Amino acid sequence: MNTEFDYAGRLANLRDKLNAEEVDALLITKVANVTYFSGFRGDSSALLVGKNFRRLITDGRYTEQAVAQSKNFTIVEQTDGLYKKIVEELKLLGCRRVGIEGLVMTVAQHSYLQKELVGVEFKSVELDTLRQVKDSAEIAQIREACRIADTAFEKVLPIIKPNVREVDVAAELEYYMRRLGSEKVAFTTIVASGWRSSLPHGSATDKKICAGDFVTLDFGATAGGYRSDITRTVCVGKASAEQRQIYDAVLDAQLHGLEVITAGKSGVEVDSAVRERLTIAGYGKFFVHGLGHGVGLEIHEEPRLSKLSKCERLLPNMIVTDEPGVYIANFGGVRIEDTVLVTSGKAEPLTLSPKNLIEL
Ligand code: ZN
Ligand code: ZN
Repeated sequence: MNTEFDYAGRLANLRDKLNAEEVDALLITKVANVTYFSGFRGDSSALLVGKNFRRLITDGRYTEQAVAQSKNFTIVEQTDGLYKKIVEELKLLGCRRVGIEGLVMTVAQHSYLQKELVGVEFKSVELDTLRQVKDSAEIAQIREACRIADTAFEKVLPIIKPNVREVDVAAELEYYMRRLGSEKVAFTTIVASGWRSSLPHGSATDKKICAGDFVTLDFGATAGGYRSDITRTVCVGKASAEQRQIYDAVLDAQLHGLEVITAGKSGVEVDSAVRERLTIAGYGKFFVHGLGHGVGLEIHEEPRLSKLSKCERLLPNMIVTDEPGVYIANFGGVRIEDTVLVTSGKAEPLTLSPKNLIEL
């Protein structure tokens, strides 16, 4: 198994970006992108990358860590503010055209750069898509994050019963994931029971689980900085005919997703194929979000699988989620989600917890 991230390849892609955007330097400030290109795992830092320089600007809390983690970068320590040092460095390097991450830089930061660097042209560039296709070491980390989440799910099932609070289930899930090696939760754990299961992003509350509830658990682990994302919906007691009908429709749609998510298809195409399936089953209007999203250093990243997706062609080794859901107010909801690896054939699920309706 290859455990080395392909930094040479990542930096080569950045060089291509510098040329394509015709800028002297890329100022990288989004934490996930700083990590991706440099290996540095701290925050409050920035990268300056040009044809002949690669600098990582950080502060005293992180200098030692940056030296250890970012061998391809010159480490610059700032003591009077990150943006002040960025200005100094850009002056020193004589940059006239600078690519910035317009999607994350604040108006105040942009104004400051413009004020301090008169005559320098700033151009918004998009770097997130460079992280879409994963190398083998990234896939290995995500597989591990998925394995941890799967194991925690199995561990937590016995405690899901009437009178247990949602937060207690969430706490147990997070405890097991941590014990199993997760660096941190991948995102705020969702445990939504009964009427709350119709809230697609219902973070766990002190609501007690009741007999007959659907309980939706959406959670993930982090390994080597990479995340997993899984949702399972279980029923406390025997499912009613209506509950089973909804569950079966969502499961059918989710399995259909595994068939249609394949290299060459667009993000819009795969979303609409699964949406169509739920519409035929009579639940299309209750599927209120996109089919899925990329997963990696961020929990939601490119490519998106939705009506608004900009991904024209999925590529092998992208990692996305397949997560249709049906949410009916005052009744409840079902979502089933796997983190999956895009291949030239069927998508390979990396989360492997059972998907048949579990009645506890
Ligand atoms: Zn999720
Ligand atoms: Zn998700």
